[in-house]
Amino acid sequence: MRQCFDVIIIGAGIAGCATALALRQQLSHLSILLLERRKNTPQSFRIGETLPPQAMALLQQLDLLAQFRLRGDVVSLGNRSAWGSSQLSENLFLYSCYGHGWHIDRASFDNWMAQQAERAGATILHDTTVTGIPVYERQHWHLGVTQNDHAARNIEAPIVVDASGMSVFFSRSRNINVVAQDKLIAIFRYYQTDDTSAADNGGDGYTLVESCSYGWWYSAGLPHGRRVIALMTDSDLARTENLLQEAIWRDALLSTQHTCTRFAHAEPLTSLHIKPAHSQQLERSCGQGWYAVGMQPRLLIRCHR
Ligand SMILES: Cc1cc2nc3c(=O)[nH]c(=O)nc-3n(C[C@H](O)[C@H](O)[C@H](O)COP(=O)(O)OP(=O)(O)OC[C@H]3O[C@@H](n4cnc5c(N)ncnc54)[C@H](O)[C@@H]3O)c2cc1C
Repeated sequence: MRQCFDVIIIGAGIAGCATALALRQQLSHLSILLLERRKNTPQSFRIGETLPPQAMALLQQLDLLAQFRLRGDVVSLGNRSAWGSSQLSENLFLYSCYGHGWHIDRASFDNWMAQQAERAGATILHDTTVTGIPVYERQHWHLGVTQNDHAARNIEAPIVVDASGMSVFFSRSRNINVVAQDKLIAIFRYYQTDDTSAADNGGDGYTLVESCSYGWWYSAGLPHGRRVIALMTDSDLARTENLLQEAIWRDALLSTQHTCTRFAHAEPLTSLHIKPAHSQQLERSCGQGWYAVGMQPRLLIRCHR
């Protein structure tokens, strides 16, 4: 395989793939390599399933909107929230200039974005982790990569894009400060309902948010009759309140007024998962021959039962 590319993108998540698509759209001669540490095998679940209406404009810019509409995701009509009161208020996407949003199967959406990037001419290497400290020499970045657990080798490009999500691998290795702004985590679980028909529309088609004393509950319907429910709270509160324990998490869910009713006829599909969901900011997001894009927590840890 060749060693030198015009652009190397670290991470083939949505930010990395969208960057590759946008670059190829503007400069179709560029050779673009995406390095992705995940294996190229379908994942069952990934959190982050609501595409707000504004995302339609981005898909259109990337010339993906028509194809996206063929995927069969479920329509998201808006948000309902009970915030600091039991009263539900509604934010209808009908009033947005982009129309409704979507509830997607996030794992399948990420795969689809990777396929679009490849179709546009980018190369993706899966099961490939960028390791070590990148070196800038003779106007090229030299990256050490390990593929399928084989010995590290070097790949180079004049431009590197750090799209490695919450790990911000490249930026950290350049000693760029990453400022965490809160301690938010998501403790979540997937459910299955009987209704797998296309008309199911993700339950009622709304994202529901309900506040509680240690944060808020988030829930949404997904394609194929699935539901996701997440408790968003601070990591220290989760520890002191034992919210990582399944029985305590479930009791807390049952004490909600609105959220628990959405899952009355649903069966748990997975155990509890926890994922960092805090906001963080890079002190600098570009430098000589590098840019950082996107953002995402990187850990997925199984909770105690
Ligand atoms: C609980 C939760 C709920 C969310 N819900 C929503 C939602 O409903 N709607 C929404 O729009 N957004 C949501 N988000 C945010 C959204 O998921 C992220 O903003 C988005 O995933 C960021 O994409 P990304 O490509 O920057 O990062 P990622 O999707 O994390 O992609 C980064 C990729 O880089 C790879 N990588 C990292 N390090 C290396 C390395 N050294 N070598 C090779 N590869 C590497 C990783 O494997 C990963 O695939 C949610 C986030 C959380 C935490």
